[in-house]
Amino acid sequence: MAAALDPTDEAEGSHRRSGEMAKYEIQILAERCTGCLRCALACSDLYSGSFNPSRSRIQLLVSEDDWSIELGEECNECGVCVDHCFYGAMQKIRREGDG
Ligand code: SF4
Ligand code: SF4
Repeated sequence: MAAALDPTDEAEGSHRRSGEMAKYEIQILAERCTGCLRCALACSDLYSGSFNPSRSRIQLLVSEDDWSIELGEECNECGVCVDHCFYGAMQKIRREGDG
């Protein structure tokens, strides 16, 4: 089975630790979010070693009508959370000039 959260996986050039991390512009399409938390779980697993959304660098806020998705200040735009969203609620666009 592929190690989807392996930070050394460079299959898409995005799963690398800071310093050589590919940078993406992360676009949020919150209206598509189901609240499944796969993005937050992937981020927290990668950067904190635990499946704990509160330790991820992405925060999902619930309001009465919809979901709000915010990337925290510590987000390094690696795009791993986007890779784990099955619902198209986030998209990544490689920044110009980045490898
Ligand atoms: S892009 Fe930001 S929020 Fe998403 S996995 Fe990477 S560090 Fe976490
Ligand atoms: S993985 Fe996608 S659908 Fe699930 S909570 Fe994150 S943004 Fe929303």
